[in-house]
Amino acid sequence: MFRCREVADRADRMIDGELGTWSRLNVKLHLAICRGCRAFVEQMRITAEVTRRAGESEDLVLSDDIKAALAQRQMRSGRTT
Ligand SMILES: [Zn+2]
Repeated sequence: MFRCREVADRADRMIDGELGTWSRLNVKLHLAICRGCRAFVEQMRITAEVTRRAGESEDLVLSDDIKAALAQRQMRSGRTT
């Protein structure tokens, strides 16, 4: 089973549906027993949702919080580990 760090590294891809079956299964197993990672993945999911909505609406004014979340997300997804 994955450890917390491995789950965190894969959260982005899982939310985007880019994770393979085996990795997804391992993440789900970990989330079943780890509250911290559940909260983390939920937060990532919300960020992904906001990102998608921001892309759909050009008139949307982004708050500093959301901008920071977006920047962090881009940094994470740009990493190749
Ligand atoms: Zn964990």
